[in-house]
Amino acid sequence: MEKVTASSDKEVYNLVQMEERRQLSQISLVASENYSSPAIRSFEGSIFADKNAEGYPGKRCVSGCEFADKLENLAIDRAKSAFGCEHANVQAMSATIANFAIMNELFQPLDGLMAMRLQDGGHLSHGAPFHASGQNFRWCYYGVSKADEQLDYDEVRSIALENRPAAIICGGSSYPRLIDYEKMHQIAREVDALLWVDLAHTAGLVAGRVIPSPLPHADIVTTSTHKTLRGPRGGGLILCKNSLAKQIDRAIFPGLQGAPKMDLIAARASLLAEVQTVQFREYAKDVLKNAKALERGLIYEGVTLVSGGTSSHLLLINLLSCGTNGSQIEKALLQAQVVTNKNPIPFDTLPPSKAGGLRIGSAAMTTRGFNEEQFFEVGGMIGKVVMSEGNHDRVEELRSFVEQNTQGLPLFNRKWVA
Ligand SMILES: *Cc1c(COP(=O)(O)O)cnc(C)c1O
Repeated sequence: MEKVTASSDKEVYNLVQMEERRQLSQISLVASENYSSPAIRSFEGSIFADKNAEGYPGKRCVSGCEFADKLENLAIDRAKSAFGCEHANVQAMSATIANFAIMNELFQPLDGLMAMRLQDGGHLSHGAPFHASGQNFRWCYYGVSKADEQLDYDEVRSIALENRPAAIICGGSSYPRLIDYEKMHQIAREVDALLWVDLAHTAGLVAGRVIPSPLPHADIVTTSTHKTLRGPRGGGLILCKNSLAKQIDRAIFPGLQGAPKMDLIAARASLLAEVQTVQFREYAKDVLKNAKALERGLIYEGVTLVSGGTSSHLLLINLLSCGTNGSQIEKALLQAQVVTNKNPIPFDTLPPSKAGGLRIGSAAMTTRGFNEEQFFEVGGMIGKVVMSEGNHDRVEELRSFVEQNTQGLPLFNRKWVA
């Protein structure tokens, strides 16, 4: 492939250069961001990008797909062995699209669906009124208890018994604790609902075998590939039992999408081999350890964390309790070259544009090679910024830490690949 140079398109080229400099000089604690390996990156945009392979292996709408077929079958086989499941679909453009495609194909407009409340950590593709998924279906929601800000399974059960949903969806984008899939499975069985796990955030921790897997409890698992899984951004994966395979495949094509992006399937295939290596397991272990180090640093400075801490890569800081808000602290941290995002918290009293919380995570900086000590230090310095409501001197201290610790630091640490 030809390399992109300034002469190809100066304006775009310059923006790519500036983005690279930004990524290198800032630290990303965005819980949903990561950096994929150079190998995976090189397959994105490879020659497969121009191939129309509409359909599935062996059943394409155009010819010339012999290598596309081999590639997609390879990705499917690797997905099955990485997660230990019966069937995999690797064509979805994103987890959001995978979710919507499944709802569209498997359920009727009047069917009941149950999911975690958005404010309590759920995801907008699980029936938020402003998302397409919220336009149909009779949605009911469960959430966390006021006492410990964790899922209350007795309440989940009683809401399920009352509403008798066709499916129970679990998994969210700002829930810092693990979900007891076995309990969710029991509840789903009791009301004769499918159990559908949206694993977008923690798929890498499951593939790395450092937290329990939702398989075999779940009937359907959907995930994005770019969060803890450390793969290409723009990629959904669906895992399911053989009994649902036909319906799931139909949901994506021809149900919602046209031709798949074969270069992204190449990147996904490569990713699904990477996650089965010893190095990836070490990575997943470190992601957990580093999140705990962040937690210690924050708690040491007196910061309140939603649910008291984390059991994954993700932490949610409660800012209401110290009189500030997510918007203010997100801006203060950006001054220090730390990228995060404001996020609502359970029982939030602020509008989402301000938000009572800040979400952070350890996946991306672990990829760059930050160790426990650095995460502890960052946690402490963020704690000081939070407790001082963005005091200029505290921000400056953090900014100089970031400058010193990112100098010459690549985005992807070579130790994570074989
Ligand atoms: C991030 C996220 C998604 C969306 O993933 P995309 O691949 O970006 O569409 C879906 N569900 C949950 C729970 C998420 O956290």
